[in-house]
This record gives sequence, structure tokens and C-alpha cells, in this order.
Amino acid sequence: MQNQAMHQPSLRSVPDCEVAVVGAGVVGLTLAALLSRANVRTALIDTQPPASTVTAEHDLRVFAVTRASERVLSAANAWPHIARSRHGVIRAMEVWDEKSPGRVHFDSALIAEPALGCIVEQQVLRQALEQAVAGLPALISRRPAALRGWETAGDRLTLELDGQPPLSARLVAGADGTDSRVRGLAGIGLRREEYAQTALVCNVVTEKPHDDVARQRFLGAGPLAFLPLDQPCLCSIVWTTTPALAGRLANVAAESFRAELALAFDHRLGAVTHCGPRAVFPLARAHAEAYVRPRVALAGDAAHVVHPLAGQGANLGLLDAAALAEVIIDAISAGRDPGALHVLRRYERWRRGENVLMQGVMDFFHLLFGSTCEPVRALRGVGLNLTDRLPLLQEFFMRRASGLTGDLPRFARGQVN
Ligand SMILES: Cc1cc2nc3c(=O)[nH]c(=O)nc-3n(C[C@H](O)[C@H](O)[C@H](O)COP(=O)(O)OP(=O)(O)OC[C@H]3O[C@@H](n4cnc5c(N)ncnc54)[C@H](O)[C@@H]3O)c2cc1C
Repeated sequence: MQNQAMHQPSLRSVPDCEVAVVGAGVVGLTLAALLSRANVRTALIDTQPPASTVTAEHDLRVFAVTRASERVLSAANAWPHIARSRHGVIRAMEVWDEKSPGRVHFDSALIAEPALGCIVEQQVLRQALEQAVAGLPALISRRPAALRGWETAGDRLTLELDGQPPLSARLVAGADGTDSRVRGLAGIGLRREEYAQTALVCNVVTEKPHDDVARQRFLGAGPLAFLPLDQPCLCSIVWTTTPALAGRLANVAAESFRAELALAFDHRLGAVTHCGPRAVFPLARAHAEAYVRPRVALAGDAAHVVHPLAGQGANLGLLDAAALAEVIIDAISAGRDPGALHVLRRYERWRRGENVLMQGVMDFFHLLFGSTCEPVRALRGVGLNLTDRLPLLQEFFMRRASGLTGDLPRFARGQVN
């Protein structure tokens, strides 16, 4: 009896894992892959079971993946799977405005890069990350299981999971999306504002080929983007507009939708000859009041949501995952507690500033291109044309949009550990 009593505390003194990642979306999967590849014992928890296949049908949800994200995904060992799968390449970008004569064309050749980024379907990205984490000895998968709550004692938390036994960890990383349970349990507030805009997404076939160019036209009610997919005439469209118009467009007959879409896009790729299912996403901006608490860190949409007009949401989340992994790995290799607040503050200082900046830039473009004021319209036309004529300014924008500048984590600079 006495032996047992003495034995149990010593068993409890070793947590099941160093880090429990809650949420196996692209951000959580990437964080779990980076940590467990560095031999940090990591648990991955999600309400959904792992996705097992990529369907023949193209996914409605796609991500414009920057070069920096490509490096993070390479460090996670997911990029080789994506490179072998369906994806579109962005060789150039073209942006123009309905209400002014402004136009700008960015070509990756100007920054001596083969591409500015890629368009990857959500199902392809998730599947690649699942392949990257499969069989990693340092990874404990608890899926499906929902996080219900936790108790803190000393240097660890014990997580209560619905449908799975409890799990102890020194740090819980919340990558559980906009309605983050981790954020709620940690008592971290969220500042959220609606944009009064809805994004309609759909995959379409056009008369003319996209030539690996991502195109965006700014209309009065919001931008309309055609993103190149793997087939020459296949694009994913993101049409940001008023909730009323998006609701109507989502429900009109396919033929009328195709005609309205081609017209709104100024017939830049000719007629729209086919369209797949349509889905709508009401848009909001949100930022958590803090990214960390003792033994808690937030990443991805759990920490921030930005306007999708430049396709940066998941890219910011992947940089969060890379920065948080770096901070945790460095702390563990220096013999420090990865859940200690002063360790986590480094992550918060690093990523919060970058994300606030990007959210500000997105809001600036949202206001600039949404304005109906004549002098502002004239100014944005001049701005677009000026950018088109100044290679240095173009280079600056392209490097920033590709994620090749800024205070990058080492996984985003091409280092693998
Ligand atoms: C129309 C539109 C277009 C976009 N286009 C782009 C783009 O081109 N490029 C780009 O970078 N970004 C884009 N984004 C943004 C991007 O979709 C998000 O930023 C990204 O998907 C967030 O990923 P995440 O892993 O943080 O969260 P999520 O993908 O929301 O994953 C959260 C995970 O947590 C799990 N979970 C939730 N609660 C619990 C719980 N209690 N217990 C256990 N698990 C839980 C969920 O099942 C889910 O798997 C776009 C967004 C929209 C709306």
C-alpha cells in the first residue's frame, strides 16, 4: 500500500506531453509537426477524426500560400506532398479598380523568384500535413476528442477531453479557430467587428486561360479575385460583396451567376463556362486581447482573423506556428519550462506586432478601395499606376506579400530545426 502511494506521485510527476495542441486545422497540424519532428512530445486534439483522402472534386476552400509559408511547410515535411499534388502557381498578379483607371501588374521575375506563391486546396494542405505527422514517435493523436476544460497544478495542466482519457501537459496551444475554447477557458477576451461584407467562393471554368496569374478587381462593394488552379482555365473565385448581394448570388440559377460573374470581372478571362457549388462566409475582423497566459498560447484564427482580400489569414497562422515552435524548442533545449509566462511572452511580442500590422494594412486597403469619395478614387488610381511604373515599389510589395521580409521565424527562413 505504502509502495503504491509512493509510486503514484512519481508517475504523476512526468506529464504525458510537453505541449497539447488543441485544433488540427492547418495551423495546429503545422505546429504539431514542427514540434514532434524536433522530438518535443506533443499531443494533437481535435473534435474531428484525421482527414484521410483528397476527393477528385476540387475543394471549395483554397489558400493562397506565400513563399514564407512554403518554407514553414517544408520544415514540417508537408511541402513534398503538396508539390506532388494538385495546386496552382502564382507567377504574376494583376490588380485593377472598377472606379478608376488604376492598374498594377506584379511579376515574380522582378524579384528573381519562380513564383509569388501557390494556390492550394484546403483538403490537399490538410492531407499533406496529416502525412507529415503520421507515424512521428513524439506525437500522441487524440482525435476525435473535444476539449472540455482543464485543471492547473504546479507546472502542468490536466486537460479533460470528451470521449478520451485526461491528458497532462506543460503547455496548451490553442489553434482551435475563431470560436476558440482554449481562449475562452484562459479568460482571454476578443475584440471583434463585422465588416458588413460576405465572401462568396466558387470554382469556375473560364473561356480564356489564367496563365498562372492571380487577378483581383476592386468593385464598389469589395474585391473580386480569380485565383489560378492547376488546370489552365480553372480558377477559384472569392467575391467579396454586400451580404444581400452575396445571398442573392449564392442562390440564382447557375447560368445567371456565370453571366453576372463574367460581367463583374470585366470579361477579363472571357465568358465563365462552368461553375461548381457556391458557399458564403460572412466576414469579420477579430483580435485576441492577449496571445498568452501562464501555460497557454494562442495561434492562428484563435488569436486573429483578418480580411481575406490579400489571402493572408492562414499564412499569418503558419508564421505563428513557426514562431511558437521556435520559442518552445529553444526553451526546452535550454532546460527552461516552455509553459512559463516569460518564455511565452517572447512569442507574443514577436507575433502580435506583425499580425496587428497586417490587420491594419488589410483594413487600410478595405477602406481605400471601398471609398466612394471622388478624390480618394482618383488617389487610388494614381497609387496603382505609380506602383505599376516603379520597380522598387513593386519589389517592396511583392517581397512583403510573398512573406519574404519581416522578422521571420527560422522555419520560414528555410532552416529546418
Ligand atoms: C473566404 C475566405 C478566403 C480565405 N482565403 C485565404 C487565403 O487565400 N490564404 C490564407 O492564408 N487564408 C485565407 N483565409 C483565412 C483562412 O481560412 C484561416 O485563417 C485559416 O483556415 C485558419 O486556420 P486555423 O487552423 O487557425 O483554424 P481552423 O481551420 O478553424 O481550425 C480549427 C480546428 O480546431 C478544431 N476545434 C475547434 N474547437 C475545438 C475543441 N473544443 N476541441 C478540439 N478541437 C477543436 C476544429 O475542428 C478545427 O479542425 C480565408 C478565409 C475566408 C473566410
